[in-house]
Amino acid sequence: MSRSVAAGVKARIARAEAAKLAAAKKSATAAAKEKVLGIDQRTDNMPEEALACRSRMHIWVEVPLTLTALEKMIEAGVVSITSRCANQCGSVWIEVFDPKTWDRIDTKRIYERADYGVPKGTGRLPKRSARRALMTRRFPSLFNK
Ligand SMILES: [Zn+2]
Repeated sequence: MSRSVAAGVKARIARAEAAKLAAAKKSATAAAKEKVLGIDQRTDNMPEEALACRSRMHIWVEVPLTLTALEKMIEAGVVSITSRCANQCGSVWIEVFDPKTWDRIDTKRIYERADYGVPKGTGRLPKRSARRALMTRRFPSLFNK
């Protein structure tokens, strides 16, 4: 390895280490704030609909199929059923079935709203954290003492 290549690799490693350290510090700060205020900061920009669904479950409502659409899907050998969350959280659930057996052969969730999720790489949001944030937001006078 040439000197300049080695220096470049060294610099890249140093930048990666610094980024890792900054992320750890940030996560430690968020954890400390959660301990004091009881609120997971990742919920700060989430709408109430997202917090409600994340603290319990979605209210799935099937998007109605037309007879023609179903006939076409059966002919094609796969039936796809789409459901949307009635709570307006922006979640969509697509299930794919084999029309011969009606076994589900695939399932997929799509989150149409960017504010539904927590920042990537920050781990899973526990249900209790979503519930706490929701209740605190709905009844601020009770919790912000
Ligand atoms: Zn929902």
